[in-house]
Amino acid sequence: MLRTIVLASQNEGKLSELRTLLRDLPVRVVGVAEALGRPFAVEETGETFEENAILKAKAVCAATGELALADDSGLEVRALGNRPGVRSARFAHDHATDAENNAALLRELASVPVHARAARFRCVLALADPKRGVRTVEGTCVGVIAEAPRGTHGFGYDPLFVPEGFGGRTFAELSSAEKNAVSHRSRAMAALRPVLEAVLEDEAR
Ligand code: IMP
Repeated sequence: MLRTIVLASQNEGKLSELRTLLRDLPVRVVGVAEALGRPFAVEETGETFEENAILKAKAVCAATGELALADDSGLEVRALGNRPGVRSARFAHDHATDAENNAALLRELASVPVHARAARFRCVLALADPKRGVRTVEGTCVGVIAEAPRGTHGFGYDPLFVPEGFGGRTFAELSSAEKNAVSHRSRAMAALRPVLEAVLEDEAR
């Protein structure tokens, strides 16, 4: 029997990455809107990725009564004092598209030379379990910000993020398998895997 995990998001990019990362476990990952049959938004009022991930996982667990997984992630750029950080999705303005956020980032970095464009993606995953409470794990991926967008894969800031170790290609120029080998989300997922496996084993008893 597949155990349902409700993802506290309807972001198709995140859903598809998490489904791939969990594909060998006996789980079915559904978005929260699909699980509830209606839109469900949690206000991200936290100051940190961890606070927001916990807020979202707890709210979705309470609303569905199922295991709930929340991802709070974003980009930290050293030359910008680690902005956009928790405001990554809303960097250009509150309802910004990915293209608007990427354009805003390039504008802010216009006078910053390539060698000073260090950045990292961070991802905190929170798993809220109706019986066992909330656990969090984190993953990061370091790189630099490109001078212009390149590539068509992925989502968000992928066309501007050049991870270490891929010859200067951006995340959006990598296959999903290449991105998943090093991404902040896959690293957080690797840390969460033993926690999730323990929950699934416990419930199978
Ligand atoms: P959240 O939904 O508040 O976690 O927003 C995360 C935001 O960070 C997304 O909207 C993207 O802009 C950015 N982000 C997080 N992970 C990635 C990634 O893997 N690639 C590109 N952008 C990402």
